[in-house]
Amino acid sequence: MQLEYTERNMQDRMRIDLHVHCSERSACGRSTEEEQIIAAINSGLDAIAFTDHNRLVPERHIQELNEKYSPFQVFGGIEINVGGEDVIVLGIHDPSLEVRKWTYGKLYDFVRQNGGYMALAHPFRYHDTINIDLENLAPDAIEMMSNNTPAAAAEIIYQIASHLKIPVLCNSDSHNSSNMGRYYNVINRFPENEMELIHLLKLGEFRCNMEYKQVSQKNPGFCR
Ligand SMILES: [Zn+2]
Ligand SMILES: [Zn+2]
Repeated sequence: MQLEYTERNMQDRMRIDLHVHCSERSACGRSTEEEQIIAAINSGLDAIAFTDHNRLVPERHIQELNEKYSPFQVFGGIEINVGGEDVIVLGIHDPSLEVRKWTYGKLYDFVRQNGGYMALAHPFRYHDTINIDLENLAPDAIEMMSNNTPAAAAEIIYQIASHLKIPVLCNSDSHNSSNMGRYYNVINRFPENEMELIHLLKLGEFRCNMEYKQVSQKNPGFCR
């Protein structure tokens, strides 16, 4: 009986990449939305979140994508530059995310007020310090591994996250479909909707995962 439960439980786990770009909404995107989704499905993922640079996915469009590719799930987020670092925001669809000039402090307050989720993307990608106030304004998670996070930084990122008592994420930051599937997170169960996804992520009910497969093409070196 215990075994049956474990097996069912294993199948119920969701593999999700929370940081994906597409050419329709990111100038530096090399693959279309559809190519990214197909690559994710072919890699064995169950869900992705599009997080294009300063561009949200229209909510009706997210619904259409979910209808088209069901049972694969598509979520809509955004990646915002806060002067020195990039931050992934999920669970908020307010267009002001796209247009305001955000400082990290203002974005932190906005996300907290609106019940969203925020994660520091690829620390140490552009410089060897983290240029936001993590101690006082801790995000919900830090991206420990991605195609754009230096592999040598994983250990220190893990230590920083442990110190802040927040989990680490593994995301592709894929701008190219060939980069899909190497990094993802395994959530303990399938969320029913975006709100439950955010809830499970905030509870830390997931683990970060990396596949040791080749990545054939690198992401563009600099991309905002
Ligand atoms: Zn970025
Ligand atoms: Zn990105």
